[in-house]
Order: sequence, then structure tokens, then C-alpha cells
Amino acid sequence: MRARTAAAMLLALVTVCAAHAQQPPGIVDAFFLSNEAYFLTNGRVNAVAAVTADGIVLLDAMPAGWGRAVLNKLQDLTDMPVTTIINTHAHEDHAGADAEYPDAVQIVAHENSSRRLGRSTGAGKTIKTFSDHIPMTVGRRLFHVYYFGRGHTDGDAIVVIPDIKAAFVGDLFARKALPVVDRASGGSALALPDTLARAAREVTGVDRVVTGHAPWPGTRPNTGGTQGWPSWNDFREYAEFMREFVDIVTAASKKGRTAEQVAAELKMPEKYKDYRLDGAKALIETIFSELKQSPAAKR
Ligand SMILES: [Zn+2]
Repeated sequence: MRARTAAAMLLALVTVCAAHAQQPPGIVDAFFLSNEAYFLTNGRVNAVAAVTADGIVLLDAMPAGWGRAVLNKLQDLTDMPVTTIINTHAHEDHAGADAEYPDAVQIVAHENSSRRLGRSTGAGKTIKTFSDHIPMTVGRRLFHVYYFGRGHTDGDAIVVIPDIKAAFVGDLFARKALPVVDRASGGSALALPDTLARAAREVTGVDRVVTGHAPWPGTRPNTGGTQGWPSWNDFREYAEFMREFVDIVTAASKKGRTAEQVAAELKMPEKYKDYRLDGAKALIETIFSELKQSPAAKR
């Protein structure tokens, strides 16, 4: 029985693959969040799909080559096409598949990310950019798209879906670990604490935070509950953690310590004991080089 099921599944898989000349590089999984919104993952990178009366709004497109796999999975869930893409930032692993959604009529990104992606208005597509905040209604479903300042890059958007009290924060928030700051894409470790604090202060009504890379945290996949997800309080604590980290490193730098010494001596307050500090040296070096470039920076 089991063998027959496996054979039938294999046959189905072969049939599906044959139907698409271009084979996707792998499988995308979908998990129900709440109210026709889904968490999508290829095991490394995440996206969110929210179904509206005017099609699916896709928060991040996945890496280049993965659009077909996303569409295959979405076909299991709804007949709706992907009509809108909102990019959290310009990194290839999040925006690489932007062009792989044939029904997408608008692509939304922060103006800096849009510039980094080298966007011009494509045939039949509207490229929508914003500087601080745009509320967007697609098919009667409201989305808030925010930018709070430099951090991971210089164009990180936070997308809030108010009806399910969820925020998709891309790579701005690394849960209980140090963030990656990509200075080549305009990111700033010195600016990050202010950016996170602004977000923590100004975003309200969120009780679930979805990040760009963390796996599905639920033990029971499809209950729609928020168990296991970071809350907005966790985001707020992360903002404080980053502030303390940057302050400690800045103070040590002013005392003449080297980046190596700071990394070796680094000790965060007890309340952050479950935060992972791997990658500290690279982040400390980033802070040192930013301080050197703008010694007047207050942080
Ligand atoms: Zn990124």
C-alpha cells in the first residue's frame, strides 16, 4: 500500500515536471498563517502570500529560478494569480524571481531598493516605490508598507497585514542572533538600532513577526495560531539588544580597543543570554569601519 502510494506520487511528480519545460530547482512549502495568508519557504528563504479579491499579493519573490515552484504551490491553494509583489529589499535571494510572475501587474519596493534592482517600468507592469510609508489596498485587503531607515540594506521594507496582525520584516530582524549588515547595499550597523527602534515604536497591532529566513516555527502546521512565532515584543527587545550591542562596541572603540579585542571581550547583559553572538567579529568590524568613516556619528 505504502509502495503503491509512493509510486503514484512519483508518477504525479513526473507528470507535473513534464508539464513545465523549465524545472524549478526545488519544492516550495506553504503553511497556513491565517485568513487566506500563507507562509512560503524553500527551506532557506521565506515569502508570504496573501490572497485578495484582486489576486495574490506576494511579499518577496524568492531567488531567481524559484517563481515556478512558488506558483506550483500556490495553485494547490487558490485559483488566484499573483498580481502584486512587494519586495522587502533588493537582495537576490528575495527579489531574484520578481520577473517570473507573468500576471504581476505591480511591483512595490522602497525607492533605494528599486534603484538597486535597476528598475524601469516594464511592459504592463507598474513599478511602485515609496520613501516612508504607503498604505495599499489590493482587492479590499489592506497592507501597510513601511521604511524606517538604513539597516540590513538602505531599502528594507516592513510589510504589515493588519487583518491577520502579522508583519513580514525581511532580513531586518534576525530573531535571537546578530544581523547581517550589507554595507555594499547601503546597510548600516550604526543606523540599525534607530531604524529598529522607530519600527518598534511606530508599528502597532502586530502579534506575529515573520522573517526572511527562519523556518516555520509551529509545531502544528495549520492551526493558524501564533504559537512559536516571534511577537512584536520580541522585535522590540531585539531593537534594544542591537542598541546595547552597538553602544558597547562604540564605547570600546573610543577607549582604543581593537575589533579583535572587542570581539574577544564581548559580554552582553544577562537578559540577552539566549541570543547567539556568532558573526560578532564581522559586525564589530563593520561598526569600527563606519565609526572611522564618520567619527562624528553619535552612535
Ligand atoms: Zn538580505
